[in-house]
Amino acid sequence: MALFTPGRRWQPPFFPFKREPFGKRILRKVERWIKGPMFGCRMCGNCLLQETAFICPMECPKGMRNGPCGGSTPEKCYVDETRPCIWYKIYERSFKMGREHMLLEVLPPLDWDKVGTETWGDVVRSIREYGTGSFIKARFSGNKEKKRESWEAVFQPVRQPTWWAGDSNYHAPGYPEPFSRLERELKAGEFVITAEVSPPLSTATGKLKRDIAMVNELVTAVNFTDSASASPRMSSMACSKIAAELGADPVLQIAARDKTRSGLQSDIMGANVMGVHNVLCITGDNARIGPTPTSNTNILDMDAIQMLWILRRMRDEAIYLDGRKMKSSPKLFLGAAASPFASEPNFQALREEKKINAGAQFFQTNLIFDPDGLDLWLEALDKRNILNKVYILAGVTPIRSNRMAQYLHHNIPGVRVPQSILDRFDAAREDDYEELGVEIALDIIQTIKSKTGINGIHLMSVGWEAIVPRIISEAGLK
Ligand code: SF4
Repeated sequence: MALFTPGRRWQPPFFPFKREPFGKRILRKVERWIKGPMFGCRMCGNCLLQETAFICPMECPKGMRNGPCGGSTPEKCYVDETRPCIWYKIYERSFKMGREHMLLEVLPPLDWDKVGTETWGDVVRSIREYGTGSFIKARFSGNKEKKRESWEAVFQPVRQPTWWAGDSNYHAPGYPEPFSRLERELKAGEFVITAEVSPPLSTATGKLKRDIAMVNELVTAVNFTDSASASPRMSSMACSKIAAELGADPVLQIAARDKTRSGLQSDIMGANVMGVHNVLCITGDNARIGPTPTSNTNILDMDAIQMLWILRRMRDEAIYLDGRKMKSSPKLFLGAAASPFASEPNFQALREEKKINAGAQFFQTNLIFDPDGLDLWLEALDKRNILNKVYILAGVTPIRSNRMAQYLHHNIPGVRVPQSILDRFDAAREDDYEELGVEIALDIIQTIKSKTGINGIHLMSVGWEAIVPRIISEAGLK
C-alpha cells in the first residue's frame, strides 16, 4: 500500500477505493461529463435511466430505486422540502411518454463494487456478447420488433445481473398451506382485524405483555413497528418473539432504513425459528424526521420492494441473494405498506402492483381519514387487475387530541386529515377530544367495511391500546 495517498482523503465515499485500469478511468470521466449535465447522473454504476424515463433516480434522498416512498407528493420531497419528489417526476414523465410499463420491473439494489464507476463498459461487453455486427444490423433494420429485441438483449443483462434476475411479472406464492393465523383467516375470506402494539421505550416488558394479552383476545394478528419515525424503541423482533410466546400471531415490521441485505437475510431466518411468519417490509421513515443528532439520512442498501423480492425468493426458491442454495427455506407471509393518499391514485396503483409482483401478499395501509377517498385508489388497483392478488387491511386510528389531528395532517407523510375533521376538533372542548376521536374512527370503520376489495382493518392506536377493545366491540368487528 502506498504511504502517501493524499487524493484518498478527499475521495467521496461513493467512489471505489481501488485502482482502475486507465481505459476504465477515461470511460468513467467521459460518462460523467456527458451524463452529469444531461441527466444529473450520480455515477451509481448501475444505470437505470431507460427504466426511469431518463431521470436519474439517485437524486431521491432515500436512494429509492423502485419507485416513490409513501410520502411522495406532487409538490415536494418530504425528506428535503427544497426539491421536488424525483419519483413523482419520473412517474409523471413515464406516463406522458407511455413508458409506465417499464416502471414495473423489479430493479436490483446497488452493487456497491460498481458504485462510482462507469456503466458503458458493461454495455460494450454486452454488445460484444450479442455480436457487434448483429446488433448494428438490427439497429439499422427497418424491423421494429428486431430493433426492440436486440436492444433488450443488450440492456437486460446490464440492468438485471444474474444474482437478481428481476422482472415485471406476478409470482404466485409457491406453497399450498398457510403459515400463520393471519394468512389462514384471510384465505378463508374472513374480515380480519390486526392491531399495532407500540414497542416499549425501555427494557420494561410489563405493559407490552399486558397489551399483547388484551388485544390477542380480539384480533387476528399483532403488529410491532420497527422504530417508527426513526426513533429508537424495543426492537420489533424482540416484541414479536414475546408475542409468539404469549400465543399471539405477530407481524414483524422491518424497516429497510436500518438494515443491510445480509442483516435482513440472517434476521429473517432467526425470526422464523422463533415462530414469526408474518413480515411487513417497509422502507421506513427517513432519519431526518427522527430525533437529533441526525444519523445517516441515506437509505441506500435496499428499499421495501427489494426486500420483498429477496424474501420471496428465499421462501419460494430457497436461495440467498447471492444465489447460494438454502437447505430449508423460511416460511413467510409477506406484507407491505400501501399509501392510498400519497401522490396520485394511478401512480400509487402501479407502485402497489410492483410490490405485489415482488412478493407482497397483504397490504396494511397508511392511516385513512377519508374513507370515500379510498374509492379512487381501489378503482386504480382494480384497473390494474391486482385486487385479487393481495389482501388489503385499511389503517385506522382514533385521534386523541386537536394537536394530534394537526400533527398527523401536517407531519406524517402520506396522511391527509380532511378539513371537516380538523374543524370538528377545533370546535370541540379539550375534555371531549377522545370521545370525538373514537366517534370518528367508528364512522370510518363503518364506511370502510362496505368497500369491495378491503379485507380487514388494521388498528393503529399509537400507545392507546386500551381503546382497542371498545372500538372493536362498538364497530361490531367481533
Ligand atoms: S418523497 Fe420519498 S421517494 Fe420522493 S424523493 Fe423524497 S424520499 Fe424519494
